[in-house]
Amino acid sequence: MIDYHVHTHHSIDAEGTIDEYCSQAVKRGLAEICFTNHCELDPMRDDSYIRFDHRKILFSRDGVRRLQQEVFGARDRFRKHGLQVKFGLEVGFYRGIESVLQNMIDGLELDFLIGSIHCLNHVCIDSSREAHLYFSEHDADHLMNEYYTEITALIKSGLFDTIAHLDVYKKYGIQFYGGRIHAAPAELLREIFSLMKETETALEINTAGLRKINQLYPSKDIMTIARDQGMKLFTIGSDSHTVADLGKGISEGIAYAMAYGFDMLCSYSGRKRLINSL
Ligand SMILES: [Zn+2]
Ligand SMILES: [Zn+2]
Repeated sequence: MIDYHVHTHHSIDAEGTIDEYCSQAVKRGLAEICFTNHCELDPMRDDSYIRFDHRKILFSRDGVRRLQQEVFGARDRFRKHGLQVKFGLEVGFYRGIESVLQNMIDGLELDFLIGSIHCLNHVCIDSSREAHLYFSEHDADHLMNEYYTEITALIKSGLFDTIAHLDVYKKYGIQFYGGRIHAAPAELLREIFSLMKETETALEINTAGLRKINQLYPSKDIMTIARDQGMKLFTIGSDSHTVADLGKGISEGIAYAMAYGFDMLCSYSGRKRLINSL
């Protein structure tokens, strides 16, 4: 089992040290864990931080280098326990970020890069405190159109290995829009999956949905469209923000992906894709 979406206390919304997660991974029989702390770079927002020693500092190249060193330390310490430790980031994408991000990661020894859309119009739709600010201004169709347009830009940037929690807007959108939030725009999604195939971008099966809204991300109707477009590459992650959630739902997530024809579970080393047998 592998878990390719994990936040430690270096993310300002998460807790648990790298070593605590690694020990838990060994206990739970994971073969591999990839740390993917948040990399938010929007100057219009106040969440571009990384945390060390209980203090948050502005996100910077030096900060990511320090994080890399900490992950590499754990990689060495936990090798003897049979655990592979990988270094990744989850980037909150918005258009215009491309060169800033490239400069930020240039020269780093990253294994894996997740692309996510967390914000629309600089409002975090994945935050209980903020989502209503966007939702109260726009109907569900507008939200999904805008969200998937940003997802398209994210894929076209060519910067990312996988796309996280594709229908995460449902987490708070369900309360706001009710059933309308489930009407995924099929035409847009077909174009998105065909673009993902073309660019060999993987789709993440994110098990946090099970804990938040009792469904895996993405939902079954979206998986059906992905299957019909011939998607095969996927990554899997718990998106854990606490040690207790590490590895949760992974077996279920893999079975779910396979049921929709995804048969290429990807892991990454130095940004190179490896296919795991299922
Ligand atoms: Zn995310
Ligand atoms: Zn995450």
